[in-house]
Amino acid sequence: MSTETVRTHLFIDGGWRESAGTETIPVISPLTEERIGSVPEASVDDVDAAVAAARAAYRSGWRDLSHAERAAHLRRFADELESRAEERARTVTSENGMPIALARFAEGQAPVQLLRYYADLIEATPAEEERTSTPLPGTTIVRREPVGVVGAIAPWNFPAVLSMFKIAPALAAGCTVVLKPSPETSADSYVLAEAAIAAGLPSGVLNIVNGGTEIGQYLVAHPQVDKVAFTGSTAAGRQIGRVCGELIRPVTLELGGKSSALILDDADLEQTVAGLASASLLNSGQTCYMSTRILVPESRYDNYVDAITAMSSSLPIGDPMDENVAVGPLASERHRNRVLSMIDRGRNDGGTVTTGGGRPADFDRGFFVEPTVFAGIDNSASIAREEIFGPVLTVIAYDGLDEAISIANDSSYGLGGTVWTTDPDRGVDVARRVETGSFGVNYYNLDWGSPFGGVKESGVGRELGPEGLAAYQSLKSIFLPA
Ligand code: NAD
Repeated sequence: MSTETVRTHLFIDGGWRESAGTETIPVISPLTEERIGSVPEASVDDVDAAVAAARAAYRSGWRDLSHAERAAHLRRFADELESRAEERARTVTSENGMPIALARFAEGQAPVQLLRYYADLIEATPAEEERTSTPLPGTTIVRREPVGVVGAIAPWNFPAVLSMFKIAPALAAGCTVVLKPSPETSADSYVLAEAAIAAGLPSGVLNIVNGGTEIGQYLVAHPQVDKVAFTGSTAAGRQIGRVCGELIRPVTLELGGKSSALILDDADLEQTVAGLASASLLNSGQTCYMSTRILVPESRYDNYVDAITAMSSSLPIGDPMDENVAVGPLASERHRNRVLSMIDRGRNDGGTVTTGGGRPADFDRGFFVEPTVFAGIDNSASIAREEIFGPVLTVIAYDGLDEAISIANDSSYGLGGTVWTTDPDRGVDVARRVETGSFGVNYYNLDWGSPFGGVKESGVGRELGPEGLAAYQSLKSIFLPA
């Protein structure tokens, strides 16, 4: 008996529309490697229809609602999404292998929290403020207006919450959205659409088009799109940035990372290594801000390598629907093969694998990769420079704090990072010296109320917090002489 979930329509203009194209995108279980469903691939005609619906909704009232009215819509949307949180979490786990305990929070609850956070924020933020002007006496009214129609593009690693990083502030600001999920994780966005319909979100305010790179490119360059919000790889971000530069189109780019964990000489070994399980390996390492370069004082190098090896090899691997599993299969076969090829490069560069190093022996199917630790390698190795996006850690020795910070900063990326110390003030001093967009002292946490994003090749612009709202607003100054 087939257990496939077959979706036949796209969510456009507030309802279900048959795709104008004929192609479908399979949903593949990373656990069984079997096809578990399919969604229709959008054609360019569907994208045109979605963008036209978004523009009509924008012009015909969404942008003109009061902040309190938009907040009320966001709260109803949050309630409907909350009642589907378990369904969404399970859908994400089945499509990308995310451990269910993590999916329940990150993909089930977190999008709900974000909608409520931005509902509260927009309600508390006036659209206009008055300033006393200078040099001519008078008043300037500074208005925050929505930028318009947003093309939002999401990756597969945290599909629900990373879409909501864009949708919640965009809708709060008065923008309308066309979302393009990743082809690996299109299924969960149907739960999002069902919640939008049940919440009575006005037609066209949110639209979803499934597709890969080509549909993404078409959306990015669409003449009726006013802003692009992208999360994904640096390679794709570079292309999107180029197109948006040519079009003078505002763009937010949340890209890759290769962050470091700086373990100071006063750190408590046991607590630090326990903390690294989540700071370095969350979602089987498929998280952009992971501290995967672990910088350890030379004098304690062997102790840390042993402890990190023991921690990594003790993480339960298996069916991601099992509550106790910490490491699920990677999201796709292509990605699994890429991670395995990076492990080979690490070996060829002279690294010593202290645990893992390949596919786990006891699984004959599923896109699994064992948590893998490399030692005896420095920051010039390709596995220390390139994003792997899997459960692969590199432990690097340093001699003195200045060298540790210089190794941390010797990267083309700057997205996350952590410091581990028994002296939090010392930790904050280190945080100030690391070139990055976000950082954690003895933990790493995303704060809905504070900006998140990268420096260097990790991106341009910020999501979350009031700064994430500002990314969907344009400023207008209206001068009145005294
Ligand atoms: P990807 O760049 O391959 O794809 C991301 C999305 O962009 C997908 O929806 C894809 O279909 C689309 N896309 C790809 N090329 C495009 C193009 N030229 N024009 C328009 N759309 C295009 O990334 P991925 O493999 O899905 O995700 C993993 C990457 O995402 C990693 O590099 C990771 O670090 C990054 N990421 C960054 C953050 C962050 O907040 N900085 C968060 C999560 C993931």
